[in-house]
Amino acid sequence: MSGAAQKTAVVTGAARGIGLATTRAFLAEGWRVVMIDRDAPALEEAAAPLAGVDPVVCDVSQPGQVDQMAAYLAETTDRVDALVNNAGVADFGPLAETDFARWRTVMETNLDGVFLMSQALREALCAARGAIVNIASISGLRASTLRVAYGTSKAAVKHLTLQQAAELGEFGVRANCVCPGPVATKLAMAVHTPDIIAAYHDAIPLNRYGTEEELANVICFLCSEKASYVTGQIIAVDGGFEATGIGLP
Ligand code: NAD
Repeated sequence: MSGAAQKTAVVTGAARGIGLATTRAFLAEGWRVVMIDRDAPALEEAAAPLAGVDPVVCDVSQPGQVDQMAAYLAETTDRVDALVNNAGVADFGPLAETDFARWRTVMETNLDGVFLMSQALREALCAARGAIVNIASISGLRASTLRVAYGTSKAAVKHLTLQQAAELGEFGVRANCVCPGPVATKLAMAVHTPDIIAAYHDAIPLNRYGTEEELANVICFLCSEKASYVTGQIIAVDGGFEATGIGLP
């Protein structure tokens, strides 16, 4: 697919992990991808071997940078068919140990970033009758003593998705939320202790972590025409963990 018919996806947190795999999955489907990340060297390295991408350095938690990114896209991109709000940070800790600075750091990227990006690209998404996929987490589906900031940020993203689906449906925009189970990315491996890893392997019916590609496939499906009547859904991609009712490790 090329020229006027080529679709454009904007993927945040695209320099590595699930965001990079999602970029590759869109490219394989013939889409063009605007890769957004705040880590400039990692973004440059990730984008270098890929054809059909436009890397843009932007911290999605910073309103000024998001405005600049949106102005750049308005000049360079004639359409935005999908927005994948994937950029995220993890910080595991209980209420007793999470000071306000840690709380804000998590909220700024995981929640403010989704709000700012969605607002900045709302008009473009409406013009294209596009799709939004927000990446939350199974940590936003149930409480755990370790995740006061992370879990709360992801539960809020879940609800923000419902708001987006309700508000933007009349413009033909669909919004869905993907809640990954554990995937062995840099983010997860920084907070998953050996005990957590072992507990997940036992508790997950498929007895393993997911792969970045398994998440990317579902994200791309939700942005595609094949999901044209799917909106306002919270979809766990977690090897069946959520079905068990077992508490988060
Ligand atoms: P990752 O750390 O491998 O990649 C995250 C990317 O986001 C990085 O390139 C980072 O530079 C970028 N980023 C972070 N903050 C940013 C900001 N403010 N602005 C722009 N870019 C920013 O992480 P991942 O595991 O691929 O996670 C992707 C998403 O999936 C996150 O939202 C995460 O919370 C969610 N998730 C991951 C897991 C897991 O086990 N890996 C589980 C549940 C949910």
